[in-house]
Amino acid sequence: MNNAGNNSGMLIIISGPSGSGKGTVVKSLDKSRFAHSVSVTTREKRPGEVEGIDYFFRTMEEFEEMRNEGRLLEHAYFCGNCYGTPRDYVEQKINEGCTVVLEIEVNGALQVREKIKNCVLIFLIPPTMEELARRLVTRNTESPETIEDRLYRAEEEIELVDKYDYLVINDHVADAVKRIDDIVNVESLKPFRCGAMVEALKNKTWHGMRIDEMCRENNSGKEGAHAKAVV
Ligand code: 5GP
Repeated sequence: MNNAGNNSGMLIIISGPSGSGKGTVVKSLDKSRFAHSVSVTTREKRPGEVEGIDYFFRTMEEFEEMRNEGRLLEHAYFCGNCYGTPRDYVEQKINEGCTVVLEIEVNGALQVREKIKNCVLIFLIPPTMEELARRLVTRNTESPETIEDRLYRAEEEIELVDKYDYLVINDHVADAVKRIDDIVNVESLKPFRCGAMVEALKNKTWHGMRIDEMCRENNSGKEGAHAKAVV
């Protein structure tokens, strides 16, 4: 359902309580379609986590240095640890026309919305609160105190759900992934994300040829072929 000739970048933010399955859903998104931003955190590495893939694990001093130098697009404190999104990667990918995905908590998401109005906010929830608790307990990565802290925090995060553009229930990962794909497809049809097409329509330069083919040709002929980021 994508409009050909749509070459603007898009920023997708996926939030949701700990245990909503955000990580699994984001990892299951089509890698050829989405650029996944890796966050910086001061949290301890969990067994199996890999530096540069799951997170950039940093000390508090290193994190503060990045924040003070303006190298984080957003940052937040969550259940005893700091998390932040490296600014450079996101800006570079969006300027290349990519669809970038951030998997971040609500305060960070709302900070990004302040800076980048056209970002798309998706809130992921499990089918029931009981399921959320069950997932947190069975994944066996947190102490009982941390689980309790995260469940309390889940209630706080859910309070902010109406600040989001879309609500997706994560009952089955494949279904949640499909819903996120559908959201991105619909978003990409919005005229402000189809700069080349809108320009051709307004300038009446699309006569005699299918507009999508014309825009595609024009884009591929351009040096670098990168449209201005619209995010
Ligand atoms: P976890 O410790 O379970 O990996 O992550 C805890 C929470 O921090 C999750 O809700 C996760 O989405 C969020 N988070 C991960 N990276 C970032 C980030 O860069 N910024 C913000 N604001 N939250 C993040």
